[in-house]
Amino acid sequence: MAKVNENFLELEDDYLFSKILTKTNEFKSKNPNKKVISLGIGDVSLPLAPTVIKAMHDAVDEMSKKETFKGYGLVQGYDFLIDKIIKTEYETRGIKLDNDEVFIAAGSKGDLAGISELLSSDNTVAIMDPVYPAYRDVNIMLGRSNIKYLEATKENDFIPEIPKEHIDIIYLCSPNNPTGTVMTKEQLEKWVQYARENNSIIMYDSVYEIFITDDSIPHSIYEIEGAKEVAVEFRSYSKLAGFTGVRCSYSVVPKELKVSNNISLNNLWKRRQSAKFGAASYITQKAAEAIYSKQGQKEIKENIAYYQENARYMKQELEKMGFTVYGGMHSPYVWLKTPNDMKSWDFFDELLNKTAVIGTPGVGFGKCGEGYFRLTAFSSKEDTKEAIRQIKENFRLK
Ligand code: PLP
Repeated sequence: MAKVNENFLELEDDYLFSKILTKTNEFKSKNPNKKVISLGIGDVSLPLAPTVIKAMHDAVDEMSKKETFKGYGLVQGYDFLIDKIIKTEYETRGIKLDNDEVFIAAGSKGDLAGISELLSSDNTVAIMDPVYPAYRDVNIMLGRSNIKYLEATKENDFIPEIPKEHIDIIYLCSPNNPTGTVMTKEQLEKWVQYARENNSIIMYDSVYEIFITDDSIPHSIYEIEGAKEVAVEFRSYSKLAGFTGVRCSYSVVPKELKVSNNISLNNLWKRRQSAKFGAASYITQKAAEAIYSKQGQKEIKENIAYYQENARYMKQELEKMGFTVYGGMHSPYVWLKTPNDMKSWDFFDELLNKTAVIGTPGVGFGKCGEGYFRLTAFSSKEDTKEAIRQIKENFRLK
């Protein structure tokens, strides 16, 4: 009998969203006439921008003709997209990158896991708590038992302290999922300095950077001097342009970034991708390219503004009701302190039973998330308003 990879047996059950679903279905069967509003899963609700749709249609037409048909593309991605990324996302912030430092992929989730795989399993790892659960899971799958959880609490404004000990791999996420907090330039400078002093690598997840509204907050870790020597950056079109179903993202792996024995991570990633990754499709990359046109930028920014307004509205109204609310600015997530220190799942049940509104229990993102609750701004404006109305009418803060 084939032997299992025992690392996988160390994973906790992926119960968060399945438990939410089970509880929601139970509620629906008992209350068939009630409309349940989900502000739970961080998935977008607006359709793709018209400019993106047009680019996809045009790309499909190209595929239909012998002269313009495309087969396998370069694993790293097409230069037409990489050029636009470098010019629009990086050069505008004073960051210079070569084309072979940007890798197009089919979602950041896969790259976060893939790049972690290039590093030895005996590395020490630091992960924020609470956090996007995939960071923890991929490290467990790789057999890393030496994981330090950096506590993000209201006492430290959800930005953990720099570790006192040596850590090899650090996962940072700003704007953060689930707390909605962002790291300032000064905070990020300290992490980069720590990584340089400790020869650590920072896995910098900035898939929500489009939600940043304050110019003083970095969108990219490479806005910090010296970061290219210590950081990989992950960006995605999922939330930026509603591509959660289309699947397109990119990772920046600078050539200056070296691991033990002066090995280039960029070369290693290239090698790994050529063996394991089949490239994002031409149609998808054409769709992503379209967002960099003048009209494309206008359309995706309108969609982001729509979600930002949902977040602002939720935060404002929940605060008026007396809730303590974090996030909701520079982020599509509102991070709510449960009233009277209720456990996250008890609050979930009470909110569902009284208001038919679904959110995500904070404890699902780590133990420091206990007593918190995440609401997303990705629903429709109408549903967001209705959810708040339901909470106002039917939920009493004791
Ligand atoms: N990083 C964070 C913090 C996320 O919340 C998500 C998705 O929700 C991802 C990465 C993965 O995004 P995708 O694989 O859709 O690009």
